Amino acid sequence: MARNEAIEKVAQWIAEAKKVVVFTGAGVSTESGIPDFRSPGGLWDRYDPREFYFQVFLTSEEARIKYWQMHSELHRLLKTVKPNTGHYACTELNKLGKLDCVITQNIDNLHQGAGLPDEKVIELHGNALRVRCLDCSKQYSREEIQERIEGGERVPRCEECGGLVKPDTISFGQAMPDKEMREAESHSRQCDLFIVIGSSLVVQPAALMPVYASHGGARLVIINLTPTPYDTEADLVIHGQAGEVMSEVLQRAKEKLLTEGGPSSG
Ligand code: NAD
Ligand code: ZN
Repeated sequence: MARNEAIEKVAQWIAEAKKVVVFTGAGVSTESGIPDFRSPGGLWDRYDPREFYFQVFLTSEEARIKYWQMHSELHRLLKTVKPNTGHYACTELNKLGKLDCVITQNIDNLHQGAGLPDEKVIELHGNALRVRCLDCSKQYSREEIQERIEGGERVPRCEECGGLVKPDTISFGQAMPDKEMREAESHSRQCDLFIVIGSSLVVQPAALMPVYASHGGARLVIINLTPTPYDTEADLVIHGQAGEVMSEVLQRAKEKLLTEGGPSSG
């Protein structure tokens, strides 16, 4: 299908939908300058997050030092980046009254940065702007912990209980957050349109969400630069840049809602 035709179709499906769930991965944030796992020259060329298995973080001081070096670099990067048109398109979808929620695998807070309210974002892999004690759950701001690191602490510990603190993100080998997983599954099963943006759909169990949606009867759209294992199950696949494609889709959806009698016609 030609690109224009595909964009037209997604816009039409948005106009027809009552509950759209958008599922995002690292690819929605690459246009903001945050590399995904596959971009050459990025952060993940120097640090492989797979080396930082949760079990290793718990048991090796050396691994913890390296982990905090990686997160310090990530922190400096996250402080400079801005949301892009892909994130803003999701916010627009919400303003149109179409968005049920965004389920994201990203830890970069950019959906909220683009003005999407917290309650509309389900973070499956946590958020790098928060830090939590693994023992007593006390929360710290990432900024405060960074100041301590820059003051010389290589592996910060909890002021309350002496436990290990860690960014509130899900490492490989760490349990998925229960509440978020339950919510994401239920929203996926109940939506009528499920749009994947910028995810390789290879990280489990997050990648089960499009399957839940599809089994629940939703239309499944995948917008990604490269093929994914679920392309054959999708109703429509667009290979392109997330921000570019989504801003065109939203533009067309808005036009359709105006001409075909959307929320604005009462
Ligand atoms: P991934 O790196 O496995 O896949 C990203 C996908 O996005 C790739 O298939 C790539 O082709 C595609 N892509 C890259 N740029 C794109 C663009 N501009 N437009 C459209 N598609 C684009 O990422 P994933 O599926 O999110 O899973 C990897 C894990 O990495 C997740 O657990 C996530 O938590 C973590 N991660 C998060 C961030 C972030 O928070 N921004 C960055 C890197 C990794
Ligand atoms: Zn503690």
